[in-house]
Amino acid sequence: MFGRKMVPGAFTGWLHCVADALFPARCVDCGRLFHHMAATPGITDAGSAAMDPYFCPGCRGRWTAVASPLCSRCGLVFKGRAGEDHLCGRCLDRPGAFTRARAAGIYDQTLRTAIHALKFKGQVRLAAPLGVLLFDTFRRYWTAGDIDMVAPVPLHRNRFRRRGFNQAYLLVRRWTLPAGTDVVRDLLVRDRATAPQTGLDRRQRRMNIKNAFSVNRPGQSAGKRVLLVDDVLTTGATADACAGVLIQDGARRVDVLTLARALQS
Ligand SMILES: [Zn+2]
Ligand SMILES: [Zn+2]
Repeated sequence: MFGRKMVPGAFTGWLHCVADALFPARCVDCGRLFHHMAATPGITDAGSAAMDPYFCPGCRGRWTAVASPLCSRCGLVFKGRAGEDHLCGRCLDRPGAFTRARAAGIYDQTLRTAIHALKFKGQVRLAAPLGVLLFDTFRRYWTAGDIDMVAPVPLHRNRFRRRGFNQAYLLVRRWTLPAGTDVVRDLLVRDRATAPQTGLDRRQRRMNIKNAFSVNRPGQSAGKRVLLVDDVLTTGATADACAGVLIQDGARRVDVLTLARALQS
């Protein structure tokens, strides 16, 4: 019965099956035990597949990928699902400092749970699959050579000490980027500990975050195309504050990539 040559892939697959049968995973969202070898019908992209070991089949599909029509600048997903991408009213009124923001999914359901588990429950193991989801989104909207620097939005040192990590950096640290594109962990510094943005309106958020950031080494981003990375984009006030500092420092262009995009802003 062992006459057929066993290929290494099949063997490790079989091992995974055994391990999975013995040790089912616990869903990060609903807490149920499940066997993660079961494929999710209809979901084949790398980002979603990377989330499979952490979410049960029921929760896995409960997130909404960002899709057109959306604001061609800030990435706001329009409620009306017909038509082409165009500028939203706010970007027409007040374009701000970054050129383009994009996100993997809408900030709700399983994606929100995953981000909360990473940020507030210290589940750093989720940084790897969420980083794959983010990298997948990066490749969807930018091509190799478009970006010189990838920079996480920094935390204030007090918050960093309390949390122990910067989730935005954890998302990008394993990215394999072409030569000439670097992840710069400390391009920006958060000088001021700001109150949480939750519950503030658009104008209050802008005031709250004003002068909160500065560059670590002046001139480091001069002439560079920078991709700012964060977990969630809500009104874009934080991204705009960071982009403004980088443009002042001489950056040629600043784009923004987040895991999630809040629907209302
Ligand atoms: Zn579940
Ligand atoms: Zn917009």
